[in-house]
Amino acid sequence: MEATYWRKCGSCKKEIGYNTIYQACSVSTCSKTAFCSVDCWDTHVPIMNHKNAWAEEERSPSKPDAQAEHQVRRTIIQPSASASSSKSSPMESEVLIVASKLKQYVKDKYDLNTSANVMDALSTEVRKLTDKAVQKAQAEGRKTLMDRDFI
Ligand SMILES: [Zn+2]
Ligand SMILES: [Zn+2]
Repeated sequence: MEATYWRKCGSCKKEIGYNTIYQACSVSTCSKTAFCSVDCWDTHVPIMNHKNAWAEEERSPSKPDAQAEHQVRRTIIQPSASASSSKSSPMESEVLIVASKLKQYVKDKYDLNTSANVMDALSTEVRKLTDKAVQKAQAEGRKTLMDRDFI
């Protein structure tokens, strides 16, 4: 069911349409409440026990705007929901480094030997960096991890 109005008045429950002037309460806890008239806004002040409040004239969004706002909110929520659902992988404890290539690099460049434990330590670091990069990709709603996620 699609709503044909934007919000209902916080006092008399009259429907406030899209692209319509309404009265907003200056108190932040009331910011989601719209009032059809200053009279209706006046009515809620003693009920809510406001001390320093005034009515602000606002215009409700036009219908396409209200729907766009809805969609934006949905795309923001989605990545964080999938971010919390990371699955387990057998590669969580495996060596991800090509040992022979790394050993050759260290040997050629610095004339050092490389102990086998280095591969474990580096694999842990690679996983940490990757997990962080994945969070960036997910925050942007992407399904592909990219080089720029590591910067
Ligand atoms: Zn009203
Ligand atoms: Zn209020």
